[in-house]
Amino acid sequence: KRKDNFGFCIDNSYLELPDILYTVQIAKPVKDPQIILLNTALALEIGLDADGLSTLEGTAILSGNQQVLGSRSFAQAYSGHQFGYFNHLGDGRALMIGEHLTPEGRRVDLQLKGSGPTPYSRRGDGRAGVEPMLREYLISEAMAGLGVPTTRSLAVVSSGETVYRATQQEGAILTRMASSHIRVGTFQYAASRGDAILKALFNYTLARHYPQCSDKEDQIRCLLFNFAMRQAKLIAHWQSLGFVHGVMNTDNVTLAGETIDYGPCAFMDQYDPDTVFSAIDTSGRYRYKNQPLIGKWNLARFAETLIPLFNHDGERVANEALDYYDQVYEAEWLLKMRNKLGLLSSDYEDLAMVNELLVCMERDQLDYHETFKKLTLGTFETEESTSSEAFKNWYQKWRMRLTQELGDEKSLREFMKGQNPAIIPRNHIVQRVLNDWVLEGDDKPFRELMRLLSNPYLYTDEQLLIGTPQKNWPKNYTTTCGT
Ligand code: AMP
Ligand code: MG
Ligand code: MG
Repeated sequence: KRKDNFGFCIDNSYLELPDILYTVQIAKPVKDPQIILLNTALALEIGLDADGLSTLEGTAILSGNQQVLGSRSFAQAYSGHQFGYFNHLGDGRALMIGEHLTPEGRRVDLQLKGSGPTPYSRRGDGRAGVEPMLREYLISEAMAGLGVPTTRSLAVVSSGETVYRATQQEGAILTRMASSHIRVGTFQYAASRGDAILKALFNYTLARHYPQCSDKEDQIRCLLFNFAMRQAKLIAHWQSLGFVHGVMNTDNVTLAGETIDYGPCAFMDQYDPDTVFSAIDTSGRYRYKNQPLIGKWNLARFAETLIPLFNHDGERVANEALDYYDQVYEAEWLLKMRNKLGLLSSDYEDLAMVNELLVCMERDQLDYHETFKKLTLGTFETEESTSSEAFKNWYQKWRMRLTQELGDEKSLREFMKGQNPAIIPRNHIVQRVLNDWVLEGDDKPFRELMRLLSNPYLYTDEQLLIGTPQKNWPKNYTTTCGT
């Protein structure tokens, strides 16, 4: 079955759920689809035939013009708190192809983004522009390279049609892969439709993402706590990488614990806890330093949806889960930051040492990643004259603290390289390769950057050079959802 089907093995278990949770429909065809990006490494990883997908028929499938064998495509219904306000939403410009079963038996969602309007598009054409789809491809794959749980990008197909946004540009369709697209917002939607719908979604999610909870006496508590753990660890990972998601609405939080929806997200250059990139986040709700707290707020919204499923002690369990989230977050964050500093053993003063460094970085307006890279490479000694007194003090304390570690200096530095990326997709470089491609028609810099980002912990001269911040890059650079 796989062989003459590009390796696809499509199942539709989601369609066994109550049909109020989705609408079956086909994609709106596009005029002249061309594959402009195909993730051959990912295709291989999930058992797809990349050569086959590059043919006319493969292109038709990745553009939505043709359904792959076994697919019954559908749009998902969901709700969500957007910037704190509750709305009924749904896939307004996306369609699920179905669940692909990999040769190893993994079940992954494949979704077309930009495939045309659905019953859930309240406004808009259901399409996407080529630049934001290239951007999602780039950043999601960079996150995967950095080791962060994330949705993946399999392909971008240009549509041969024009979309009208702030500027006029070509349309594109992204094929996104996710462990699933079940969101906190999906639970909010199900809860608003009654206990039977909620219970069905809960059982489905339990079996798909939290099978370890299936034979537990308290399945609900188990799922809630494990979800809290995944979110806490995910957001600790973001913080350690200076990643600002930008739109942490409850419909952009998945039960699988992956980063999803790469719209206005960006990486911080200069360390500033108040960093916001999204042009529409005018109040700074989703600023860098708020992310852990927003994660907890979103967890509370999720816990609320489960209350009808509990017998009596739902509120108490929900509150315990919120406390648990804090504990996991703090421990995970400290572990990640300790690792960045090469502190493999633990000392009760490590937290203070990390915080003191961050205070120095903020006051001295240091670049977040560059600082850790210099500590990793040991290139601070030579620059000591340009560092502040506070930083020099901290540096001496850190050097002293390192003497408690067992390894020699060389192995310690090798360990730190694995914790501090040589290259991250900085705004200046992302914007440059996008401009080269979209405005100048030159796709080489984009592809070259993708190659470097697939190995971000490799300290080659090339990685280090491209990973360097641009001196005069505007600090008030903004991003958009790019719908
Ligand atoms: P997103 O930024 O993709 O998460 O979109 C937020 C919401 O707006 C979702 O409900 C989308 O389905 C909807 N949306 C975004 N762009 C479009 C579009 N071009 N056409 C229709 N709906 C859209
Ligand atoms: Mg329906
Ligand atoms: Mg979204």
